[in-house]
Amino acid sequence: MSFSLDDFHRRTGTRFRLFVQSPLLAGFEEPETIWVSSPAGSLGPGPSDARMYAVQPVGKRPYDDETLPPFPGARRALPRPDRHGHFDHIAPDDPSFPAVHMFGAVRRVLDVWETYLGGPIHWHFNVTHRRLELIAHVPWDNAHFGWGFMEFGEGKDDSGVQQPFSLNFDVLAHEAGHGIVFSIVGIPTPETLTVSYRGFHESASDCVAMLSALHFDTFDDHVLDACKGNLYVSSEMSRIGELSRTRQIRHAANALTLSDVISLDTPPLKATGKQVHRLGQPHTGAIFDILAEFYLDRLVAQRLVTAELAQRMRDCARSETLCDGDADCLADAYDNDRAAFRAALCDARDMLGLRLAEAWRRLDPHHFTFGKELAMVLKVDREMSGARHGGMIRDCYAWRGIATDDAGVAKAYHIV
Ligand SMILES: [Zn+2]
Repeated sequence: MSFSLDDFHRRTGTRFRLFVQSPLLAGFEEPETIWVSSPAGSLGPGPSDARMYAVQPVGKRPYDDETLPPFPGARRALPRPDRHGHFDHIAPDDPSFPAVHMFGAVRRVLDVWETYLGGPIHWHFNVTHRRLELIAHVPWDNAHFGWGFMEFGEGKDDSGVQQPFSLNFDVLAHEAGHGIVFSIVGIPTPETLTVSYRGFHESASDCVAMLSALHFDTFDDHVLDACKGNLYVSSEMSRIGELSRTRQIRHAANALTLSDVISLDTPPLKATGKQVHRLGQPHTGAIFDILAEFYLDRLVAQRLVTAELAQRMRDCARSETLCDGDADCLADAYDNDRAAFRAALCDARDMLGLRLAEAWRRLDPHHFTFGKELAMVLKVDREMSGARHGGMIRDCYAWRGIATDDAGVAKAYHIV
């Protein structure tokens, strides 16, 4: 059921080398060769194509409310593709590597979501800017997606050393996620903007990052090896934007509910960035829980674990501990057929990605509520697979304090 982007694009696509996770993390020190959908030979120096281009400015400050791309100042020479059109010859110690890495990562994220959507994503800013400008480094301790651009600074690791965000796939995918969400959900007016829309944007971008990372085989294997098949155990997959082995920007497998975050009646522009990020966390947690449920569903369907063991894994989800007998049983099953566990995880990833992409594409950005998003996810899921998952999806959201706005709509899904 699941698909491999590398298999899709190996014959005709363009090669890049990407760090699957922060290179500070054990097991991810070396970049992995991947293929993006751009036909080999189609990318220009930078890299660049008809939709985005990387530039390496000299002495640039971050864009602000007064400034917009294209960057007009001094810049370094653009890296060129090799004679076959690929970019994997640019080594990690090459000063141009961050720019190339940024382009490759954003292109990979677009490949993932354009596959789920079944067509190209058209930038929301294309009324004024045809292409997305990618800037891999500005002197700043943050990263942002703005009107026609993405630009990245750096963050300190545990030793206090500045590490560029442009080499962190999660951060890249999160910012690309903002672009995807703006482009497919749309932009509310100042009058129709809600604080929930802002929280949803952060959450959806984290979900884009989480599902995009799962398109690397090495990452999937690493996650499953680390948790021995039990996704409820804290792992790299649920830690988004990892800066080190123990620090991350946000946690997907969190235990937050809407009662732990600011009121949804907060005027949208009164909420701070920190409050908005936290507001998105219950939704991210619900989506993570649905991913874990789809995964368990596949494990049981493939007879890799019994329905009883899957239920006990669910029951222990919050404590992250299984009794020794169950943990051994799961570890044995995993060791016996790791490829099947990975296939189950990839199936779950694509089941979720297909539903989220289609639900978000149909969402109305005006007067957004989490309840409306839930109703759309339920509707899309029902169209794709009938009544099978509706109760589970509703429960995952309900645990976070999210219900459909219209009780009648929720009830209708109960009946089918
Ligand atoms: Zn963000």
